[in-house]
Amino acid sequence: MSGRPDADRDTSAAAPESGAGTQTWRVRVDATACMGTGICAGVAPGRFRVRDGVSHPTDEFVPPTQQVVDAAESCPLEAISVTHRDTGARIAPEE
Ligand code: SF4
Repeated sequence: MSGRPDADRDTSAAAPESGAGTQTWRVRVDATACMGTGICAGVAPGRFRVRDGVSHPTDEFVPPTQQVVDAAESCPLEAISVTHRDTGARIAPEE
């Protein structure tokens, strides 16, 4: 044991934009619910891409970022889910 609290964590996929924390979030779009409005792509540019009428996250795993929360909260069909990668705990949209 090294004694470092984060010594056993895989932070390779986590590149915090602000340097705050080492969490990684998982972003998913329910293709059966998505209507391809493109709102998410407008709210979070570069985070979602609408293709063939369905939105897709550009990256499934992202560092914590308010943009994906805003996108999930803005989706009129609640097709976007943001969860903690490791715990699966729901981050957005709020229940
Ligand atoms: S805002 Fe929701 S319904 Fe609209 S494209 Fe994005 S995921 Fe699909």
